[in-house]
Amino acid sequence: MMKLTDPLHVLSGVGPKRAEAFSELGIHTVKDLLTYYPFRYEDIQEKVIEEIQDQEKVTLKGTVVSEAVLSRYGYKKSRLNFRIMQDHAVINVSFFNQPYLKDKIILSEEIAIYGKWDAKRKALNGMKILAAKNDGEEFAPIYHVNKRVRQSSLVQLIRTGFDEYGQLVEESLPLELIQKYRLMDRREAMFAMHFPRNPEESHQAKRRMVFEEFLLFQLKMQGLKRQEKAEKNGIAIQYDVKRLKEFTKRLPFELTQAQKKVTNEICRDLMNPHHMQRLLQGDVGSGKTVVAAIALYAVMTAGFQGALMVPTEILAQQHMESLQQLFDPLEVRTALLTGSTRAKDRREILAQLASGEIDVIIGTHALIQGDVAFKRLGLVITDEQHRFGVNQRKILREKGQKPDVLFMTATPIPRTLAITAYGEMDVSIIDEMPAGRIPIETRWIRPPQIDTVLEWMKTELAAGHQAYVICPLIEESEALDVKNATEIFEHMTAFFAPDYQVGLLHGKMKNQEKDEIMQEFKENRLQLLVSTTVIEVGVNVPNATIMLIMDADRFGLAQLHQLRGRVGRGSDASYCILVANPKNEMGVERMKIMTETNNGFVLSEKDLELRGPGEVFGARQSGLPEFIVGDIVTDFNVLEVAREEASAIWQKKQWWVLPDYQGLAEEIQPENEQHQYFD
Ligand code: ADP
Ligand code: MG
Repeated sequence: MMKLTDPLHVLSGVGPKRAEAFSELGIHTVKDLLTYYPFRYEDIQEKVIEEIQDQEKVTLKGTVVSEAVLSRYGYKKSRLNFRIMQDHAVINVSFFNQPYLKDKIILSEEIAIYGKWDAKRKALNGMKILAAKNDGEEFAPIYHVNKRVRQSSLVQLIRTGFDEYGQLVEESLPLELIQKYRLMDRREAMFAMHFPRNPEESHQAKRRMVFEEFLLFQLKMQGLKRQEKAEKNGIAIQYDVKRLKEFTKRLPFELTQAQKKVTNEICRDLMNPHHMQRLLQGDVGSGKTVVAAIALYAVMTAGFQGALMVPTEILAQQHMESLQQLFDPLEVRTALLTGSTRAKDRREILAQLASGEIDVIIGTHALIQGDVAFKRLGLVITDEQHRFGVNQRKILREKGQKPDVLFMTATPIPRTLAITAYGEMDVSIIDEMPAGRIPIETRWIRPPQIDTVLEWMKTELAAGHQAYVICPLIEESEALDVKNATEIFEHMTAFFAPDYQVGLLHGKMKNQEKDEIMQEFKENRLQLLVSTTVIEVGVNVPNATIMLIMDADRFGLAQLHQLRGRVGRGSDASYCILVANPKNEMGVERMKIMTETNNGFVLSEKDLELRGPGEVFGARQSGLPEFIVGDIVTDFNVLEVAREEASAIWQKKQWWVLPDYQGLAEEIQPENEQHQYFD
């Protein structure tokens, strides 16, 4: 029997070799092929180049008027240059690192190129050559392809796919929803995603597919959440309320209202036999650590163990120190376990974890190695959760009897977005800073002004303060990063000699080396620290008051904000200096907004607006789900509607047995999947 999940080679004209080429694109089955949607549609109406904005993505049509010249440079890098003529304007076109395109550029032939417009150079930075198109077809889909699969052969195979298998595409949504939202039928929509006859049809097809994608996502997430809530096989942690109150009273400061609120939310979850999965968001410096400490303390009073997992050794060390300051060592037995813990110590710690002699363990992913066993693990907290893979979190969770889990992150995401996108988690937000902070002053300067800034830095250093200098990552080359950082380090060393000591920190260094440098900086044996972004997460040196960021326009706003959060941690005025020469309006805008606000949530909303979600949270970084057709920002209203509809569906008793809901049930619960959503 023919099935949509049949392997690709069942289609006419697909042999093993072609099938393999397609599998590189993630297309293994007929269904994969039919749902391999274009990432955009190009409106190939001719654009007048005067009207194109700098850096705008456009398609330009023209006649090739020069041979394509390929130049190679560096390691595996190349540039392909040629010119096209549009009306009477000659346009320079370059393609980077796609040498194989050379054969496609044929003198005197018409060509359509999709790329980014560089207004200053009157040049097009090519991204794709579009399939040679018939006249009149002005609305062409553009796919992600690679060296072995071209646009035209992909399109051709998709047609074959529909010819041979199109009849098998069935409706997945209940009629009720289709009517309510006037959605296109699934088969029609799937076809129109690839071959729309006009923009309106394309729009309708996409609207239907986005809805479906979001609805399925929400159904799954809410299913998981319901299941966890219903199971009640989490642990009810009966902490000692009186001791916990005493503990918070002993803290060196009063908790902010926001800290109190989130602490209550967490404590309620702990006491409850449900399995907690909570995301704690709070801007840099908002005081998440103490909230974690309270939760860990609570768990300890109930006779359970807690674990705090962080992404780097430096952070683990630092958390260990802060927790030890907060805890009375006689009361809470803490330990640190990282990759560099000596074998003998490690054995001892493991034994104590197993016997329950350790209450709170702090560490890096060394915590989740196979031989680490707990006596009664009740709570797992991960700091900067976006640095941890989902699998790592899962392993640690499985070490206990379903311990409660708290994810802490300083990457602020607008609340509505967080609730919707992290569908399976509850969200707590610390939206208030501890009182008495002096806001960090942020300035943006152009590179020629840097000497003036360095002179000024001398006066700050003379007052006993310390400074960071951050060098950007140079795309795709760690070696270049190191070179760049080393050059800046040498420059700084010469400039500040002999009065001040400068240290260097970069990603190529061993952990131990990094820790040593960091320690020296903490102890003020180094006054200046030149670093790549390895410093980014959570480091706390209150005496550092200057954050100088080189080529700041290469960073995202969220990252700049993280970096800035490294200063302003003590009682002295702090400064963040952005050195940048932005190449376009957007860059200028981003530098400006940094100087205008210290609020991470405002920044993240602005960043979303300016750059779009794909760039802001590359899904790998943030743990946000990656959608194929939907866009969590521009299609946000659809995401919300989908959430409501999913919730309404889960209200229906045993909805998965209702005839009209079979399509949905099948989509979210394929036979081969482990997870059981349904009772
Ligand atoms: P982050 O949320 O970035 O992890 P931290 O937990 O490191 O922030 O807190 C930053 C600093 O603020 C720490 O030095 C901490 O002791 C201090 N702090 C936390 N909460 C308060 C508070 N309620 N009042 C005053 N200082 C606080
Ligand atoms: Mg922190």
